Amino acid sequence: MLRVGLSGGIGSGKSTVARALADHGAVIIDADRLAREVVEPGTAGLEAIRERFGSGILTSDGALDRPALGRVVFADTAARGDLERITHPLIAARTKELIDAAPPMSIVVHDVPLLVEVGYAPRYHLVIIVGASRETRLERLVTHRGMDRADAEQRIDAQASDEQRRAVADVWLHNQGSVDELRAATETLYAERLAPFLANLEQGVGLETHEVPGPVEVERLT
Ligand code: ATP
Repeated sequence: MLRVGLSGGIGSGKSTVARALADHGAVIIDADRLAREVVEPGTAGLEAIRERFGSGILTSDGALDRPALGRVVFADTAARGDLERITHPLIAARTKELIDAAPPMSIVVHDVPLLVEVGYAPRYHLVIIVGASRETRLERLVTHRGMDRADAEQRIDAQASDEQRRAVADVWLHNQGSVDELRAATETLYAERLAPFLANLEQGVGLETHEVPGPVEVERLT
């Protein structure tokens, strides 16, 4: 199994890259999705949050009221720590389950928006970062996602910078052009870097004997 970490700032194009790799059979583990799943109605996660923060963080139909919880933890570091102590082990356990369930001859792509912030880079054989300028990401979030500009700016500024991401990147996908160009760059990355690993694994050549390629820039390969 080749373990790949995929990250990039909000609106950089991570999900687009993950979808292109999934088309090649990669197993995608979406950290954001798991974070939502572990607090769905009926889960132990939501019950633990209700016990800690009270029923005021639930909507009338019993789901997690994210804005309400956000208001509680935003200004209170201790409360945020409590929330993380509830959710992080649940997300980690589910991630492990999914990794364990993946076929041995597979590429597992862990899509983690905060990969750099949480120091996960050493967990992977290969770290792929999708980068785009702040202005480009802002424009995408506002025009494609309908996000309020000030909100988008605040979210971008709360994350690590692309400079910090560069420090851990083995592969840098520069997403300043079109979506088609990003897809083409991902295809090249797959063909040149990822598929050869699968071929090696299938021939019984493990990662111990075949090093993962070192830092490489995939700058607009089209
Ligand atoms: P998030 O962190 O919010 O999950 P993300 O990094 O997963 O974002 P995507 O969802 O892949 O990013 O892309 C963000 C938005 O920008 C989407 O609406 C996507 O269609 C669009 N987008 C991505 N790449 C490009 C591009 N090269 N040109 C134009 N639009 C793009």
